Amino acid sequence: MIALSFQPLGDDDVGLSVKAVAERVGFPPDKIYIDRDSEASAGAYFSGFPGVNMIVITTKLKELLSPIQLTSAVAHELGHWKRRHNRIEYFAMILRTGLFFGMCRKTYGNEGVLRIFGFTETPHPMIPVYLSIYFFWPIVQDLFNGIHAIIQRSNEFSADDFACDLGLAGELRDSLLLMAARTFSFPLFDTWCSAWYLGHPTILERVRRISSRRR
Ligand SMILES: [Zn+2]
Repeated sequence: MIALSFQPLGDDDVGLSVKAVAERVGFPPDKIYIDRDSEASAGAYFSGFPGVNMIVITTKLKELLSPIQLTSAVAHELGHWKRRHNRIEYFAMILRTGLFFGMCRKTYGNEGVLRIFGFTETPHPMIPVYLSIYFFWPIVQDLFNGIHAIIQRSNEFSADDFACDLGLAGELRDSLLLMAARTFSFPLFDTWCSAWYLGHPTILERVRRISSRRR
């Protein structure tokens, strides 16, 4: 569904530059929108459902970056589309739901769970399910989230690589640094912390990696 605040790319410098890179990789330019919502923070994102893909650029980002820098940010989002990263997200969502219901099914009336919690009488079969959701599921969830975050992190690097392969490495690096400076978002996380908990590399990690590719 398209939000009312979304408008298609125009034929200004930004529109022409972004359309050119989209056409180059086979993405329909009419599926790239500018979000005029003044409350939306500076950014761009790819949103994809089977058969429906779109890239949204917020007005704040458009105002912040030069046309070619904005094009490099869109090239990163095109990388998510071209390399089908949204499919990994669907798979993760289905897997998480499957794991949850699988656990509920396995633990319904499970005597092993009741023994772990010291039950001497047999309570309602839902009790071991409830105990598992409360005590075991957070462990599974943490493990799942950590692995998922590592995959998301690698997808971010992969999307950066895609933009670099289009010859936009310098522009992407400049746009990241500019965004970090202007939006005061410059978190310095430990690499392992960023990989396990954030699912998104820090700007410094991305900039360092893009710079090493340029040499
Ligand atoms: Zn990304």
